[in-house]
Amino acid sequence: MAFEFIQSQLEQRRQQQLFRQRCTQDSAQGRVLVSEGRQYLNFSSNDYLGLARHPKIVEAWREGAKRYGVGCGGSPLVTGFQSPHHDLEQLLCEWQGRPAALLFNSGFSANQGLIKTLLGKNDLLLQDKLNHASLIEAGMLSACPSKRFAHNQLEQLTRRLAERDQQNCLVITEGVFSMDGDQAPIKAMAQLCQQHNSWLMVDDAHGVGCLGEQGRGSLNQQQVNADEVQIQMLTFGKALGVAGASLLCDQELHDYLINFDKSYVYSTAMPAAQAMAISAAIKLVRADHSHQQQLQANIQLFKCLAAELKLPLSQSTTAIQPILIGSSERALVASQQLKQQGFWVTAIRPPTVPPNTARLRITLSSHHQREDIHALLAALASIVGEQHEH
Ligand SMILES: *Cc1c(COP(=O)(O)O)cnc(C)c1O
Repeated sequence: MAFEFIQSQLEQRRQQQLFRQRCTQDSAQGRVLVSEGRQYLNFSSNDYLGLARHPKIVEAWREGAKRYGVGCGGSPLVTGFQSPHHDLEQLLCEWQGRPAALLFNSGFSANQGLIKTLLGKNDLLLQDKLNHASLIEAGMLSACPSKRFAHNQLEQLTRRLAERDQQNCLVITEGVFSMDGDQAPIKAMAQLCQQHNSWLMVDDAHGVGCLGEQGRGSLNQQQVNADEVQIQMLTFGKALGVAGASLLCDQELHDYLINFDKSYVYSTAMPAAQAMAISAAIKLVRADHSHQQQLQANIQLFKCLAAELKLPLSQSTTAIQPILIGSSERALVASQQLKQQGFWVTAIRPPTVPPNTARLRITLSSHHQREDIHALLAALASIVGEQHEH
């Protein structure tokens, strides 16, 4: 028998309560989610600003499809770079105050491509231990030596920077950490990297749209200038409600990636209609602050009620509010009990998070109403509170 590990590894996952399965959703993203004929209040979506079905963005996609059809026929160097792609790149540059932007079909492929293209065996990659799998995995697959530093620990990062030889070095962190909701001290990291002649990259998948003036993201919120962080990665599938990603950098690195990054060169470009929808989402986020304000109000309310109920709360002040449970089994049970009461809250288990840190990953959105949050917390108090007593 070939590939016998498939069966044994699946069996192991089942025994450890780590087996994963998909649930079919029958509804669009929104406050309420329909799955297998039942309705749930949705507390698991990354659609933080409720834009995934915003009429203006849907209309932009429709208009794009009418004008450009549904596919762009090729990779960006062949036929796949159309004026909506160009316009979106220009809009990104202006919004973020950067010389150049490059579009990708996903944050996953942007991260993989960048790391594999930029770093060779004589270079060094330093990553926060809690960085997203797309970054950690690319580091493992690339020829370059990569080391991790403890989450947000600048002393350890300083040591790693100081102990290296004269290698090119790239430090990567996230603006907002995807499973914890806490933030990196980007300003201090940028200063450190500058002192040690290293580049810094910030993956702001969960910051863009939600944070900073005009939703510019974590750098703007922390008053970090674009030239202090050499590479910024933004995704469009979370707060911006669409899909896709961009690397923002200087003109030279941009040209280098166009010439050498295989995940850019050898992949069909996103449809022009999608680029138009992303542009519409960015314009909306810049012009209308009400979504961000509503999200902030919901985060405040959640934290306030959770503190009153003495729930095991994290320090996070972002839309990602994890409730740490510990054991995978208990996290699954809590998630199932919440589902029975009509709340969709995903249990996040290893290897997505470190061993024994399974959690309920609650995400808040501008589309939640006050009573939704009150109801969720009442349910959490009885379910998680009860687990604590046993
Ligand atoms: C979601 C995410 C990605 C991947 O982006 P996609 O566009 O969904 O592929 C990358 N980095 C972080 C931190 C993320 O949370």
